[in-house]
Amino acid sequence: MTAKALLLAVARTDATFEPVLVDGRRALRGRCLHCNRPLVLLDDGTPVSAITLEHIVPKTAGGTDDLGNLGLACPRCNHGKGVRHDRRLRTSARSAEVIERLLERRRARWREAP
Ligand SMILES: [Zn+2]
Repeated sequence: MTAKALLLAVARTDATFEPVLVDGRRALRGRCLHCNRPLVLLDDGTPVSAITLEHIVPKTAGGTDDLGNLGLACPRCNHGKGVRHDRRLRTSARSAEVIERLLERRRARWREAP
């Protein structure tokens, strides 16, 4: 799956994303998994605002590419969770709590793709 297709697949399974028009083009508008800042992407997956794909359980900690482990985040939020942080995950109870909260939020937003 291409990066754009993956962004689109996550947006379509996230109930915060709703159809909108951007300059006459069909798009989806939803919210950052962390901070609820608005995120917009065209219906071919092209980001209108800056959007990053986030592995909720990081790959370095065994996270997968399953849609349920992926979320869309604004760059500011995603970059706050860098590799150095990820390496501490296995021993950091607080990071585990953050991940559990994000997984719960992703589940709460989940919808089957239309
Ligand atoms: Zn954010």
